[in-house]
Amino acid sequence: MALIVQKYGGTSVGNVERIRNVAIRVAQTKKKGHKVIVVVSAMSGETNKLVDLANQTKEFPIGREYDVVVSTGEQVTIGLLSLALQDLGFGAKSFLGYQVPIITDNAFSKARIEEIETANIFSELKKGNIVVVAGFQGVDRNGNITTLGRGGSDTTAVALAAALKADVCEIYTDVEGVYTTDPNICPDARKLKKVSYDEMLEMASLGAKVLQTRSVEFAKKYNVPVMVKSSFTDAEGTLVTKEDKSMEKVIVSGVTYNKDEAKITIARVPDRPGIAAKLFAPLTKANINVDMIVQNVSHDTYTDLTFTVSKADFKKALQLVEKTAKVIKAGKVLSDTSIAKVSIVGAGMRSHAGVASKMFETMAKEGINIQMISTSEIKISAVIDIKYTELAVRVLHKAFELGKEEVTEEK
Ligand code: ADP
Ligand code: ASP
Ligand code: MG
Repeated sequence: MALIVQKYGGTSVGNVERIRNVAIRVAQTKKKGHKVIVVVSAMSGETNKLVDLANQTKEFPIGREYDVVVSTGEQVTIGLLSLALQDLGFGAKSFLGYQVPIITDNAFSKARIEEIETANIFSELKKGNIVVVAGFQGVDRNGNITTLGRGGSDTTAVALAAALKADVCEIYTDVEGVYTTDPNICPDARKLKKVSYDEMLEMASLGAKVLQTRSVEFAKKYNVPVMVKSSFTDAEGTLVTKEDKSMEKVIVSGVTYNKDEAKITIARVPDRPGIAAKLFAPLTKANINVDMIVQNVSHDTYTDLTFTVSKADFKKALQLVEKTAKVIKAGKVLSDTSIAKVSIVGAGMRSHAGVASKMFETMAKEGINIQMISTSEIKISAVIDIKYTELAVRVLHKAFELGKEEVTEEK
């Protein structure tokens, strides 16, 4: 008998029929004698609607009330799934974040889980019940509802699996596992049998939204085996686990893209010590993460500075930067929301030269202009015009021979 956490994403619970289908799957696991905790997302599209409503109501809505609004989609699905399980004759009880409780810090809209109390869940499991937990939400130490950032139900599931010392965390979604790139835009994408925490972390943080980055951090830290599978088929999924010898030692293991960033450029920034710190401090204070930063070499004691932030933070970031630009007597502030970041990821890159030039040549051949570049030991990212995203992903996937035919399956 095992303790299993299963998470079903938005598409998997998109309507009542699908919720019934999820209930049948959960029931099958329960019937095998396992203890089951299910985490669900809101119905697909629901959280977007709630975010829109908040944005229509107030200019910068993020704060306590924003999380009160955007967390509600999951309340519907936990209730419906519990009803569906009861309809099949199983004992089921739903829990909102605060009822578990899942305790977080108070960074509304991107809160981090600090602690999960497990007594309530264990007591329901002991009674033989299936426990259904709302993904994406928690409660801070003052009793305020918080949310964990978009895609946060993955993190709820993995964090629960870690806290409950579950045997496995199964993530059920609308694709059959983790692929070399998004199978929805590259039909040639190849499903991976296994992927290491580190590579998955890199892929997730660069846009492969099949798992939220924080969920992979949790999995790695607490050594939780994560199985990514389809909620619609019985195909074997992808195991996210510790690196082992059977894993591929390829130079590039995946291609990712992120259309969720925007670019801000400050022209004619005075080239003096302390200026960059002045520009970024207000952003840090507003809890806005800056991703790529590029500063040009200065000529005539001025320089241009460009950086990217998530689209959700863009308006606020622009407002803050425009304020500081005036104070430091910089030039114009320019912005662009029609960008995408395309990246190639692979642990093998560490020891191979020429990967970057191959990437740039491949994009040049298609006439794709590169606006910004950033690299780490195991990834190279390029910011491009958003309209070339799919094309860039496909040609890079092909150039690095990641497709179905070219690479032999690992054992
Ligand atoms: P859920 O609602 O189940 O949480 P998401 O939409 O958050 O599902 O994540 C699944 C989606 O992730 C897939 O439909 C796919 O388009 C996208 N995706 C992006 N990169 C990858 C990848 N490398 N492997 C699998 N799916 C990916
Ligand atoms: N419903 C939330 C979202 O759409 C959380 C999730 O789906 O994981 O971001
Ligand atoms: Mg998701």
